[in-house]
Amino acid sequence: MTAMDPKTLHPDTIAAQALGWVDEATRAIIPPLHLSSTYLRDPDNQYRSGRIYARADNPAYDQPEAVLCALEGGAKALLFASGMAAATAVFQALQPGDHVLAPKVMYWSLRNWLTTFATGWGLDVELVDMDGPDAVRAALRPGRTKLVWIETPANPLWTVTDIAATAALAHEAGALLAVDSTVATPVLSRPLALGADIVMHAATKYLGGHSDLVAGALVVREDGEFWQRVRKVRAQVGGTLGSFEAWLLLRGMRTLHLRVRAATASAQRIAEHFAVHPAIEQVLYPGLPGFPGHAVAAAQMQGGFGGMLSLRVKGGARGGEADAIATAANVALWKRATSLGGTESLIEHRASVEGPGTPAPPDLLRLSVGIEHAGDLIADLEQALAAARR
Ligand code: PLP
Repeated sequence: MTAMDPKTLHPDTIAAQALGWVDEATRAIIPPLHLSSTYLRDPDNQYRSGRIYARADNPAYDQPEAVLCALEGGAKALLFASGMAAATAVFQALQPGDHVLAPKVMYWSLRNWLTTFATGWGLDVELVDMDGPDAVRAALRPGRTKLVWIETPANPLWTVTDIAATAALAHEAGALLAVDSTVATPVLSRPLALGADIVMHAATKYLGGHSDLVAGALVVREDGEFWQRVRKVRAQVGGTLGSFEAWLLLRGMRTLHLRVRAATASAQRIAEHFAVHPAIEQVLYPGLPGFPGHAVAAAQMQGGFGGMLSLRVKGGARGGEADAIATAANVALWKRATSLGGTESLIEHRASVEGPGTPAPPDLLRLSVGIEHAGDLIADLEQALAAARR
């Protein structure tokens, strides 16, 4: 039951009340947990409830999917068991021989899957630079390229891709544009309004927001044949989200705007603080005016540049890589852990995680800024940098 008209309300309001749905049976304002894996068939053999089996569909998804549709301005949404399950479902809905473009700089695990499993299934995967339109334009093969996948800002260098320009190029060639918008979140960027066809989220990150669930989501601009294939991939391959995770995700999304704005403001402050610093070689953050993608990011992101940034540690006596690892070893407040988008700030030596072939320089530390006080986060990094150089 939709109590709100999402078209007339601010996204903060939509998220805070999760569209204002109320449980019909109990008048509860927080939904019950639906745990059933199966649904009763009518005596005449029909399934008038529309529910059959929880691998295909689940009432626990209805509200979070509706909230995501409203926040992204999409027609339909699908939840998945993880961000990877959501992303790979898009590629699995393609046909063998289809040509796809993906960025050289992107979430490493998906890049790895694309260049191993996806190519093994017959997809023609080409990785290109996506920090400007030229490489995409040159690589598109009209009629053969079916999908262009972008991530913006992209892990772990925070490369910015122009969504509107890439959508126009993709569409001219007859391809769809899908955007991994995990880092931007619907708070800062709405790719569907800029021409993208599908938005993907690792909902594990900012949407969930508390590092206590693994989930993924897709939102589509227009329902159609391709989307129905994606839907079938979820139902048949079975990358379905558990009911409790769907419930936690809905709870997390209620505070999405507050958390993203707090993390974004602190990330900007941290980036500016370390941009001119004797122990830092370079700060990678789209919010810095000198960052190559700054102008595009400023045009397609509203209200800030997100909570993710990277620091390149200047080589002291032992060199940048050793000092970066030593800095991470000496933090007290930041947590040495992978992932992003939680309330707690995380620090990670990214080249160690991604291994050979990573675009991350060895001196790079990736920071996921949480919602702690920025002054505490800066002080902890300062003492860790100093300790690393002693
Ligand atoms: N996309 C981005 C940008 C990510 O950071 C991640 C995970 O770190 C994923 C996709 C994959 O999400 P998940 O870990 O939920 O499978």
